[in-house]
Amino acid sequence: MVRNLQRDAVRILVVGRQGSGKGEQCRRLAETFDLDHISTGDLLRAAVRDFTPLGPSVADHLLRGELVPDDIVSGVVAERLTASTARGQGAVLDGYPRTVKQGQRLRELLAPADIDLAIHLDVPRSTAVERIQNRRVCRSCGRAGRSTTTCRHCGGPTEHRADDWPAAIGRRMSEHARDSAPLLEWLADVARVVTIDGRDEPDAVGGRIADAVQDHLALVEVVTERSDETVLADW
Ligand code: AMP
Repeated sequence: MVRNLQRDAVRILVVGRQGSGKGEQCRRLAETFDLDHISTGDLLRAAVRDFTPLGPSVADHLLRGELVPDDIVSGVVAERLTASTARGQGAVLDGYPRTVKQGQRLRELLAPADIDLAIHLDVPRSTAVERIQNRRVCRSCGRAGRSTTTCRHCGGPTEHRADDWPAAIGRRMSEHARDSAPLLEWLADVARVVTIDGRDEPDAVGGRIADAVQDHLALVEVVTERSDETVLADW
């Protein structure tokens, strides 16, 4: 079901450690609210797979589990955001920003619009590591699931993600530990942040996220309507 937002394009961020379920939840949000799902991980993996000029240097960072340099990531985000904005479509950003610097860059890219809402998908490190170790990604549809040899969505063959090996998982968890607290603190100053417990089943988590988005947008609508009335009364 597509929920009708009845307002201008919205920009929602989903932040959380790898293994928190961001990818699946962003996919659902995009479907429910008709948003462009902008996943920096997917865009970077596509740059490698499609042999683009950026591919070789991106591949090194991905395999080591390190952040890809800001100018490359922000470049791919800017290109994709420009395209969705031109279509009048909102976006859900999956995996960007990961640092305060990227957040500042994102606000520049969005101006004069801004971040509407940030969802912080919270799972403990141990849960995230266990999920990543059991994660298999479908080679046909790209969706992630738990260890089976065939995808339960399309029946395609599944495989480990190339960066889901112990040292790279550890590095990604450490980077998250370093960057997430400052990012969340900064986000709380510039946008509304809603924290959702991501430990439950995907359907339950997805329902809570969709409700949070709907509530926030309803709130914004009321505020906008009230300020319009005030302007009219003054006029
Ligand atoms: P993900 O698909 O979100 O798990 O991301 C996979 C990998 O892509 C990360 O481990 C990083 O190497 C890279 N990556 C994704 N998003 C970013 C970002 N915002 N900044 C830097 N590197 C990123």
